[in-house]
Amino acid sequence: MEASTSGRTYHDDMARILWSPDDITARCRVLGRQIANDYKSKAPLVLGVLKGSFMFASDLVRCIEPCPRGLTLDFIRASSYGSGTESSGDVKLKTDLKKEKVQGRHVLLVEDIVDTALTITTVSRYLLEECGAASVATATLLDKHERRKLAYSPEYVGFVCPNEFVVGYGLDFDEEYRTLPYIGVLKPECYAHLGI
Ligand code: 5GP
Repeated sequence: MEASTSGRTYHDDMARILWSPDDITARCRVLGRQIANDYKSKAPLVLGVLKGSFMFASDLVRCIEPCPRGLTLDFIRASSYGSGTESSGDVKLKTDLKKEKVQGRHVLLVEDIVDTALTITTVSRYLLEECGAASVATATLLDKHERRKLAYSPEYVGFVCPNEFVVGYGLDFDEEYRTLPYIGVLKPECYAHLGI
């Protein structure tokens, strides 16, 4: 990254905005109510998949109303992107979550985006097969289903995402743009230097 940005901001790098902060808030409320209803007697373990889901997880959990007793929140780190916009397909998990904290729990994974579904499938298998979760469901902010490599249907979807590289609201491009309050499509010139 250049030390000087010549006064340009992240907003200048957006080709277009797909979902505004208001769109996202409204969708979180709808999903939160559904989740509260579906998990009312299940004491779910809500597990945010970092880093991309940090904003969505934080907004979504506040919308799980009325909040079921026993709901707890934790995070797991998964990474599959090297640099650029294409997944390496090699999913690495990092967590200090003790297996006994997962055993027998109904886990709700919170993801920023399900794209090829390699990440979410790896995380789900780990929780079910290695940690003994009672069930695993997924709430994803975005579903880019056109690019699936593995069959996977998330139970809760914020928005169906077009087949474009999006950033903002937790989603990054080489660690940049995560803090934007909306989701937008990057101008191609912002990644032209990578030759993609
Ligand atoms: P999957 O394993 O389903 O292919 O990809 C999941 C991960 O890839 C997401 O958690 C996210 O970090 C990254 N990803 C996939 N599509 C996009 C995208 O359009 N924009 C960004 N910023 N990340 C993406």
